Amino acid sequence: MRQKHMLVPTLREAPAEAEAQSHKLLLRGGYIRQQAAGIYAYLPLGNRVLQRLQQIIREEMQSAGFDELLLPAMQPAELWQQSGRYEEYGPELVRLKDRHERDFVLGPTHEEVITSIIGAEVSSYRKLPVRVYQIQTKFRDERRPRFGLLRGREFLMKDAYSFDTDWEALDVSYQSMFKAYERIFTRCGLRFKAVEAEAGSIGGEGETHEFMALADIGEDTIASCVSCDYAANLEKAVFLRPQEDLEANERTAAPLEEIHTPNIRTIDELSAFLAEKPEVFMKTMIYLADGQPAAVVVRGDHEVNEFKLKNALGAAQVELADLETVERLTRAPHGFAGPVGLDVPVYADRDAAALSQAVAGANRKDYHLRHVSIGRDYQPAQIGDFRNAVPGDCCPNCGERLSFHRGIEVGHVFKLGTKYSQAMDATVTNAEGKEEPMIMGCYGIGVSRLMSAVAEQHASDEGMRWPLRLAPFQVHILPVSVKDDTQMALAEEMYHRLEQRGIAALLDDRDERPGVKFKDADLIGSPLRIIIGKAAGDGEVEWLDRLNGSGKEQISADEAVERV
Ligand code: ATP
Ligand code: MG
Ligand code: MG
Ligand code: MG
Repeated sequence: MRQKHMLVPTLREAPAEAEAQSHKLLLRGGYIRQQAAGIYAYLPLGNRVLQRLQQIIREEMQSAGFDELLLPAMQPAELWQQSGRYEEYGPELVRLKDRHERDFVLGPTHEEVITSIIGAEVSSYRKLPVRVYQIQTKFRDERRPRFGLLRGREFLMKDAYSFDTDWEALDVSYQSMFKAYERIFTRCGLRFKAVEAEAGSIGGEGETHEFMALADIGEDTIASCVSCDYAANLEKAVFLRPQEDLEANERTAAPLEEIHTPNIRTIDELSAFLAEKPEVFMKTMIYLADGQPAAVVVRGDHEVNEFKLKNALGAAQVELADLETVERLTRAPHGFAGPVGLDVPVYADRDAAALSQAVAGANRKDYHLRHVSIGRDYQPAQIGDFRNAVPGDCCPNCGERLSFHRGIEVGHVFKLGTKYSQAMDATVTNAEGKEEPMIMGCYGIGVSRLMSAVAEQHASDEGMRWPLRLAPFQVHILPVSVKDDTQMALAEEMYHRLEQRGIAALLDDRDERPGVKFKDADLIGSPLRIIIGKAAGDGEVEWLDRLNGSGKEQISADEAVERV
């Protein structure tokens, strides 16, 4: 494609409300634009990445034995009443009425629709398994849409469904999908981990796994064993806390000690203050009584009695509170050092001894508390209570140490069993001639979320650095001056040669200053770049492979085409 007439509205600065790196860069690179909270337009570059992701997904679905279909987004409410989810799903379900006052929903997922169809069309076990998938826009009126495509209200999902005669057959469908997911995320260049999970509003009786892209911005926390393959979402994880460790910790903990920390108001300032000292700084975490997401005090000003609380899981919303509120929230005998947890991912590698040196805020201006100790100064964890998980917790499989990471849920596979087939009467006659509900599985991938997750892992401050397979254009050709006929002739020639070989190339044919072109090229983020400058007369170009970071090389135009 030629850049001059392509819609690539790059931005020098990211809009202030964009927090996640992927969100900033997708906006700045001209990939997406927001229409309303959590609702985005995909501009040509963004659409190209989505297409490439879909291509990979389609290939792997097919090889796992799933057929593509397309179900309606607008669904009659009766289906959802039948399954019981019309009530259960709550305000996240987008509801609407048609002109005849009949109730409809915009599908957040499609178990109801597909179960009604398969139930009506398949009546004998001989037809099973049925395995189908679609790639479609989903609607969920999320309470907090954020981080761009990571949590949208309208988003693209691949959802697949399997119908089997029994649980053993479901296991075959499940395993083949599980393997397909591993191949998909590997091909996308994603660092990911499959973890044991909770079923959430999809429900069902069987096992379920989430596929987590590893990224600090992720809203989920993953516990994984350093020695065996146990890995679970913290919502689901089971921890063993050696009791003797706690007791020893209580016995040996040094007395609480107030340290003078003048003019320190923020976590960053305190970290810097403590940087020369060996103590571990413990962010003051607050867990709301109703189990809402944890908060962390990021700034405390005793003089004006104002404390800023941030959502610790997403570091998003900042709320102001007074000291009384903070004390009430923490239920703290020692002010902020009350029933606090630790910032798990940050301190996952610290050992328990170091933690007994922890520092937390005191309820006194210009002071913090040193030697805050688990058990004595705040609640020891209950088994399975993720909010108090600390380094040193043990794996329920092998007893080895667990480590903690943040993750973005990019995929989820469920063994549903008969939850939907029973409620919606989707049965088949078995070999003995008896009617039995089909055994279902369902399998989702957030395609648009995956795009952001890849962006999150493959970005630099200057812009995107797409893996070759996903880049909207693999090669960016930049003639330094379009007014120079020699440069343009060589640029055109290389462009055509690459296009002929089926390589997606972008030719920057705009009459812009080189600085502008280079900045835009960084933002667009093609993995390979060919710069055509003064050496064009000698048939030479500059070659830049942004993935291996080896810097620019001067080579012949022929070699550049070969290398691509
Ligand atoms: P989350 O826990 O992030 O809310 P979920 O568990 O509700 O996700 P599922 O019902 O398992 O989501 O849907 C299947 C997949 O769809 C998820 O694994 C995720 O990749 C994607 N997805 C879910 N909600 C969103 C959203 N609001 N925006 C983008 N993708 C989403
Ligand atoms: Mg959800
Ligand atoms: Mg989830
Ligand atoms: Mg899920």
